[in-house]
Amino acid sequence: MKTLIYTQPKLPYAPDALAPAISQETIDFHYGKHEKAYIDNLNKLIEGTPFEDMELEEIIRSSDGALFNNASQAWNHIFYFFTFSPEGASEPNGALRKAIDNQFGSFDNFKKDFVEAGVKLFGSGWVWLSADRDGKLVITQKSNAGNPLTDGLTPLLTFDVWEHAYYLDYQNRRSEALEKLWGIIDWDVVGSRYIFD
Ligand code: MN
Repeated sequence: MKTLIYTQPKLPYAPDALAPAISQETIDFHYGKHEKAYIDNLNKLIEGTPFEDMELEEIIRSSDGALFNNASQAWNHIFYFFTFSPEGASEPNGALRKAIDNQFGSFDNFKKDFVEAGVKLFGSGWVWLSADRDGKLVITQKSNAGNPLTDGLTPLLTFDVWEHAYYLDYQNRRSEALEKLWGIIDWDVVGSRYIFD
């Protein structure tokens, strides 16, 4: 019996609220069309299979091929878009701030390393900040639909570096597109994902 149908959550901000960092047009295409397609495909692919009763994270950890790609892209985009806020905390604080300062030397150094990892990722994918089991922070590059959940890590922050994420607003200027995201990250959301101290 089918118990789960994935639905697309409504964004917690207006579609023009993140401009100019992310325009309304990009939100409409990226969240309204690309993400909707991943969720629709996910629902089609799990129908009538043992995956239809699984939580999304479990599907991501135990699938491959088209199902993994659509499940992970569905999850990644919700994680990405729900990190933004037009008026969020502009810097990390608490335990996460301490970990960033300890491991990267400063918040500015962390931002530099993170953007560099995103710029150097060849092709489509995601750059991630995650925590390992001991709360140690790691920056990883993942191609295509890659997700640090499959490495046993706890994802904290991600930047989408697929061209569809920035081409309408920045064309080929990936570095500028990623830099602009710092202005709309809500660090209270990122910090709430870091449950170590
Ligand atoms: Mn995307």
